[in-house]
Amino acid sequence: MQVDEPVRLPRLSRAAVCGGTHGNELSGVYLVREMLKPENRKEDGGPASLLMLLSNPRAVQQCTRYVDTDLNRCFTHLFIGKSQKGAPYEIFRARELNNLLGPKGSRAAVDLICDLHNTTANMGLCFIAYSDCDWVCLHIFRHLQKQMPDTPMRFIHFDVSTKESYSLDSIGKHGFAMEIGPQPHGCIKSNIYTAMREGVQHMRDWVSCFNSGESNKCYFLLMENINSFKTSKCFLSQDRDFCLLRPGEPLFQTFSGETVKYQGAEALYAFFINECAYYKKGIALSLARKRRVSVPSIRCVYFLQIYLYLSIDVKLHEYSGYD
Ligand SMILES: [Zn+2]
Repeated sequence: MQVDEPVRLPRLSRAAVCGGTHGNELSGVYLVREMLKPENRKEDGGPASLLMLLSNPRAVQQCTRYVDTDLNRCFTHLFIGKSQKGAPYEIFRARELNNLLGPKGSRAAVDLICDLHNTTANMGLCFIAYSDCDWVCLHIFRHLQKQMPDTPMRFIHFDVSTKESYSLDSIGKHGFAMEIGPQPHGCIKSNIYTAMREGVQHMRDWVSCFNSGESNKCYFLLMENINSFKTSKCFLSQDRDFCLLRPGEPLFQTFSGETVKYQGAEALYAFFINECAYYKKGIALSLARKRRVSVPSIRCVYFLQIYLYLSIDVKLHEYSGYD
């Protein structure tokens, strides 16, 4: 393949927008409810099929993160495989969602999943994805960056190459979480809701554009998740997400008033600072390294896809990139 030759990818025929995977993250809950209203179900030439759903209706009803266990950790083959009697509600629900949107890793899975989340951390709008070479997700992100220049935006790569991905968006052929904050859980803020609504609309616009033609090559900076910083005794100043944290700089203040400094060897970017939902796990923040990525132009091969589908099954498998 020549350097500038577009990467050919199948049409995005079926997409899903999911809210309420965590039932107290209300921007996605309200946005999905709004999009489901008949007057808002417009045909805009986007994905041929756009499914919108509330992932964890019981948790939404109770306005809590989850009922029995965190749904967004349940999408491994172990949990979505064979049914277990007396399993927690979220494992039962994960199996239902896998039947609806998947099966995970199969050709029948939806082409794209956008899973909507909120964080109490001051993170702006983030894409969180397992892959740093899923060109569809990277192009969608770049499109949102261009369309929403006043919204702070980062792409965070969680490298889980040594273990299986476990979140809802991993069911789709392409998928990412759209995480927006700061917003307290159980509350809704107009600026955060509006950013999410605009982000989802721009994603739909990009899909329409991709399905009908070509998108351009792009470059941007990606945050590579390194690790999480655990603490149980200290608290820290809020709102400095994605500021560079240098060795020796103040990080926490203990309850007795002492300052605790960052002792890492390398300057890194902190995020998910003081995320309310992570208190249970004792996670104070996550750390990332900034990396520049070059994303090739991509081209939709709708007709080619149909031809291959009918004749050379194995080729389609290659294009989809999934086993
Ligand atoms: Zn969430």
